[in-house]
Amino acid sequence: MDELKQWVNEIHLELSTRADKGRVADYIPQLAKVSSDKFGIAVAPVNGPVITAGDADESFSIQSISKLFTLTLALGQIGDRLWERVDREPSGNAFNSIVQLEQEQGKPRNPFVNAGAIAVTDVILGGHRPKEAIGEILRFVRFLANDDAINIDRLVAESEQAHGDRNMALAHFMRSFGVVRHPAAEVLGVYFHQCAIAMTCRQLAQSGLFLANNGRNPATGFNVVSPRRARRINALMMTCGHYDGAGDFAFRVGLPGKSGVGGGILAIVPNKAVIAVWSPGLDASGNSLLGTAALEMLAQRTGWSVFG
Ligand code: GLN
Repeated sequence: MDELKQWVNEIHLELSTRADKGRVADYIPQLAKVSSDKFGIAVAPVNGPVITAGDADESFSIQSISKLFTLTLALGQIGDRLWERVDREPSGNAFNSIVQLEQEQGKPRNPFVNAGAIAVTDVILGGHRPKEAIGEILRFVRFLANDDAINIDRLVAESEQAHGDRNMALAHFMRSFGVVRHPAAEVLGVYFHQCAIAMTCRQLAQSGLFLANNGRNPATGFNVVSPRRARRINALMMTCGHYDGAGDFAFRVGLPGKSGVGGGILAIVPNKAVIAVWSPGLDASGNSLLGTAALEMLAQRTGWSVFG
């Protein structure tokens, strides 16, 4: 454990001095206000206290990492029927791409690209009012992280709403095929709020513990999903969690991971730990540049990999 703490500190120190930190997302104006110097790492072992370095206790916008939570929630609600609405294949396209939707009758490639996540949110909306669905997602995330202090950043949600034409187009397009069933504005109202959930690296690492521990959160003792479902969610994170950068992430880091344009990444080390990193500067695919580098270095030092 002391060794792990030392590695985390060393990696944080080494990467903090890097000149190229990537580009902070600016297509959501509220995200562009975040300093590219922010950098946090948290490691939550399945059987020990959380280890942190840097800005690990500062909240940031989790953005697409929320897609992991809504997928888990929707699977809990309708089980494998979800796969009638969303596919399970890597897209090889940008997170907000529309091209494959037409070829595939409005069925999104996977639940981790925007189109897929919007379809999943439509499922969660069920017969509820958007406010109730937002409340349900937030309660679920608090339950997973075992932390009731987690909240939604309203300014980020409003900023997304005001610049959400692309997502609106995806929702309308899917609705024309019957994949999205509620009015597009309602589905996106929920989607923008889930993306605007603000969490710290520590909270994120804690929220992923069930995926590192066969579906059971070791900190609370709650069974969140079955062991098989935990494995399958991890498989989806590995193949689809980084959009058109998923192959490179698997190659360099070798762990299931989910990124967001807020600069966060959540990575799962089955049976061992969860790692959450945050550095707002992104690479060309919209994944955290330093965050990925930090995970690559930590995986190398610890020998953590799902590939043996
Ligand atoms: N809210 C963002 C969007 O819909 C999420 C994208 C991301 O994190 N990759 O564009």
